[in-house]
This record gives sequence, C-alpha cells and structure tokens, in this order.
Amino acid sequence: MDTINPVVMLNAGVWHIVESGRVSDVALCGLPLRQRRAHSRLHTIGREHVCPDCLRVLEEEEGHGEH
Ligand SMILES: [Zn+2]
Repeated sequence: MDTINPVVMLNAGVWHIVESGRVSDVALCGLPLRQRRAHSRLHTIGREHVCPDCLRVLEEEEGHGEH
C-alpha cells in the first residue's frame, strides 16, 4: 500500500482512502463504497478534504503515531 500518497475515492460527496485503488469496494475506515464518483490521490485532494476516520487508520498503519 502506498501510504505516502494513497488513492482516494469520492463516495457520496466525501473522499475516502482506499487500499487497493480503483478495485476497492470498501474504504479504509470500513465504509462500503457504493456511490463511487471519482478517484484521485490524497495529496491532490488534500488531507483536510478526506474522511478523518480514513486518515486515522492510515496513520496507524504508518506506524509512527504522533501522540
Ligand atoms: Zn473513510
């Protein structure tokens, strides 16, 4: 998985991070992606526009939490 700049998917107006790009049907936060509108990259969209639950999971997977 590309944790530096992962693929994000637009689902019902919210960008979610997906683990395996366009073929993913579940977001990193566990949400089923049933209304996929578009895909892009995290850095293109900007973290502030991406689902906060997905970002939390991504940071845990990166293994260097900023606590
Ligand atoms: Zn999400």
